[in-house]
Amino acid sequence: MSRKKYDVIVIGAGPGGMTAALYAARANLKVLMLDRGPVGGQMNNTDMVDNYPGYVGVKGPELAQKMYETLKQFDHDYQYGDVQSVTLEGDKKIVKTSKDEFETTALVIATGADHRKLGVPGEDDYSGRGVSYCAVCDGPFFKNKKIAVIGGGDSAVEESVYLASLAEHVTIVHRRDQLRAQPSLQKQAFDRDNISFVWNANTLAIEGDGQKVTGIKYLDKESNEEKQLDADAVFIYVGMIPQTAPFKDLPILDEHGWIVTNEAMETKVPGIFALGDVRQKDLRQISNAVGDGSIAGQNAYKYLQEH
Ligand code: FAD
Ligand code: NAP
Repeated sequence: MSRKKYDVIVIGAGPGGMTAALYAARANLKVLMLDRGPVGGQMNNTDMVDNYPGYVGVKGPELAQKMYETLKQFDHDYQYGDVQSVTLEGDKKIVKTSKDEFETTALVIATGADHRKLGVPGEDDYSGRGVSYCAVCDGPFFKNKKIAVIGGGDSAVEESVYLASLAEHVTIVHRRDQLRAQPSLQKQAFDRDNISFVWNANTLAIEGDGQKVTGIKYLDKESNEEKQLDADAVFIYVGMIPQTAPFKDLPILDEHGWIVTNEAMETKVPGIFALGDVRQKDLRQISNAVGDGSIAGQNAYKYLQEH
């Protein structure tokens, strides 16, 4: 298999990856950006982004397209590729997708994170038949219906507010008696008449009639009783898992699979940078993925000056 050679390969075309590619391409480097999905990453699963400076509210997919238009001003290659592995040959990094092989001097990993499953009976059986992890994708199927949302973080609460604009009623089912979500999102949910909460509830199963979801069974931790909640759909937002399987043999991951970097976005391997949600960090946002991307792109350029 012949290998195409690049100065910089960016894996992932989310906000962070597009920004790293932008900085590297603007510095006249030979850049390839690879993604196994459309440009935009998780932004494509977000209805409204209201905390990205410069926009007073913007749809996630629209922001994705705007970012890509910025990148398109500068010469770069962008192609579909599901990266399977990265190996080292001296100071070269070999990137293998399911059908191609590439060689690069600097590698930027921007593969982000994906939704975690709840792991209860019924979840897989009813996936696509009422169980969903993406409100923007599937919410419109449940107009004027009853929806349960599992989780208490930013995703669960933000997407509940969106779903409440379509559904008859949204019930947020959370395992504690306090939300983890940022206060401004909490306020939006508390202010909606058609959002209610079930607190201290461990979801035990997703129930259905064989064809579609009919509700959930949960343990009320206060009374220690098993209870039932009727719902036509269950949206699950119980956290994220890093997309780092192709890098498992590189010495760059922590024990949970997140990539460890310093403030220059450098990993332990010279010439391999990581940025955005895939990094071990506290706050995962579009704005700081973009910030990380500018640092990684610029430092890839500096690395190439020295190698
Ligand atoms: P991602 O956006 O995750 O992009 C990673 C890309 O890498 C994806 O396109 C993926 O296909 C690709 N990829 C992964 N593995 C491979 C592989 N092996 N081969 C090829 N490609 C691969 N943040 C905000 O600031 N404001 C919000 O309002 C907001 N709302 C959100 C709502 C939801 C429901 C969710 C889930 C997140 C939200 N966030 C929000 C968080 C924000 O979307 C992320 O912080 C941001 O997208 C991270 O960008 P990233 O570039 O690091 O990675
Ligand atoms: P998260 O912050 O990790 O929250 C996950 C939620 O799910 C928590 O409330 C957690 O409960 C609950 N949970 C975890 N495992 C569970 C289980 N097995 N059963 C039931 N509940 C479970 O994940 P997230 O909300 O997807 O957010 C991910 C990242 O994206 C965060 O950094 C977030 O800030 C960012 N984000 C930002 C925005 C925005 O800025 N508008 C929007 C969405 C996401 P506990 O609270 O008890 O731990």
